[in-house]
Formats: sequence, structure tokens, C-alpha cells
Amino acid sequence: MTTENRKDWDTYFMDIAFMVSTRSRCPRRHVGAVLVQGKKLLGTAYNGAPMGLPDCSEAGCMVAEQYERKMEDGVERMVKKQRCIRTIHAEQNLLLFTDRTDREGSTVYVTDEPCWTCANMLANSGVREIVYNRPYRKDMDKVEDMMNAKGILFRRLEGYEPPRETLLEAID
Ligand SMILES: [Zn+2]
Ligand SMILES: [Zn+2]
Repeated sequence: MTTENRKDWDTYFMDIAFMVSTRSRCPRRHVGAVLVQGKKLLGTAYNGAPMGLPDCSEAGCMVAEQYERKMEDGVERMVKKQRCIRTIHAEQNLLLFTDRTDREGSTVYVTDEPCWTCANMLANSGVREIVYNRPYRKDMDKVEDMMNAKGILFRRLEGYEPPRETLLEAID
């Protein structure tokens, strides 16, 4: 590989996040997240059940429904949302397995745009920048507003192609 076609850092770390996501056993979503300080990789995590407990591939997803108030064209509606609540999300596992001091001023690369709860926790974690690839439309608007208000650099990695072998359709 010559210097010209060497991977840029964004691609390099996002590729690692996608590689990590292949460890997930929730068929609804494979998410990977990595913590980067400077150019150093300080942590990796994916969504999964707590260690030692059955995961979604063994016990099935634990799907919960919740209603949320949403304004659309000036009209308020109640929107039903489904989520798998068996797993700890990748971003939350990343926070559980890294130190606060390592996170101060760091960047998180995550395969999917964080949900509201993860975004809220990341906003209070010392992380300075969040880079994601796949949009998560359920929570997108309020997450983006909050990141702006908090002054966290929040961006989608555009024109990025995840490594093919990391895009798993379903669990084994
Ligand atoms: Zn699941
Ligand atoms: Zn989440």
C-alpha cells in the first residue's frame, strides 16, 4: 500500500468499529463502538447482554414498546417505538469498560448513530467528538439538538463503505 491510498484515520477507526460489531448477538442490530484518544485506540465495545447471561441468539430479543410524543407539521402525535432491551448498548458498554481520564477530550467512533439514552450518557462522559455511520432515525432530531447544545462535535462519516465481511444479516 502506498501513502496515497493508505486509509485515513476516520476510515481506519470506523472499520475497527464495524469489525467489533460482528461480535454482537442481537439480530435486530449489530453495533460496535471504539474509544480513540489522539490516534490511540483505548477501548472497544458492542451491544450485548451482561457477561454470563444468555444473549439474544440464545434467549431471543426482549422487545419492549414505548410511546413517545412527537410533533409533526405542528400536530402532536404519539408514536410507538420498539427496542430490544436485553442488550447493553455498545456505547454504554464502552463507558463501563473505559476510564473517565481516558475519555476526557476523546473521540468515539460508532457504527450507528447513538440512541437517546446512549447520547445522553456520552454527553456526560468526557467525550469531545462522536462519529457515526448509519443514521438512527428514531432519535436523530433530539440527539442532534442535544449534541449541539452540549458543544460535542457530532458528525456522520459520509461516503464511507463498511468492510463487506462485517455486514452480517442475521445471527448464526
Ligand atoms: Zn436483541
Ligand atoms: Zn443506545
